[in-house]
Amino acid sequence: MEITFDVLAVSPHPDDAEIGCGGTLAKLAQAGHKVGIVDLTNGEPTPFNDDPDIRIKEAKNSAKILGIRRITLDLPNRQLMDTIEARIELARIFRQTTPKIVIGMQGMTPGASPDHYQSQLIFDAAIFYSRLTKWEHLFNGLKPWRIEHAYYYYTARELTQINHPTQFISDISSFFETKKKSLLCYQSQFKAHSSYNPPIVDWIEGMGQYFGSLAGFKYGEIFFGMKILNIDIFEHFLQQD
Ligand SMILES: [Zn+2]
Repeated sequence: MEITFDVLAVSPHPDDAEIGCGGTLAKLAQAGHKVGIVDLTNGEPTPFNDDPDIRIKEAKNSAKILGIRRITLDLPNRQLMDTIEARIELARIFRQTTPKIVIGMQGMTPGASPDHYQSQLIFDAAIFYSRLTKWEHLFNGLKPWRIEHAYYYYTARELTQINHPTQFISDISSFFETKKKSLLCYQSQFKAHSSYNPPIVDWIEGMGQYFGSLAGFKYGEIFFGMKILNIDIFEHFLQQD
């Protein structure tokens, strides 16, 4: 069956996209848009899980709660690198599923998995590879697909410097409980707390309230963009009450 998406989030491991933008994905899905997550790896092995099938089941359950579809690629966890092959693999998914908006994980997470930053490099390159002409032979004949709207989600894993010109907060107040439920599916990751696995509910609760408060929402998720938004914002303000 052919799957296409309006919005596709790219996640180095199953759970990263949920942490960064699970509420927004659930909100867009409930509004009737075709929403998905593509995991670059299956996320295993990890310290507290002995069975990769458990993580797969958790990821499926999480997607069901968010009301989205999920694709899991076979790139290697812990060894994810920005290679030509990885770029082509993700660009193939973009060409196949023709998303209008793609959202990748933002920045470095020194102290957590180096896969995260590699996923951003793969994401950036795959957007470019997706639109290149005269490369159909690398993609089994799939036509180029131009993605106009590329953004990053943020997991606040570390306070790294962010230099993207565009930032905005998405209001997830009505979808915070859904986000929490989806993340609680990942018992293999968050049941055992440690210095590198903080209590998940505290983490997303604090992050959600902080970002929400910046824009006057109870809960929010922040997004970063590479392009300046061309919105007539003064006109938008004048149309509000
Ligand atoms: Zn991760």
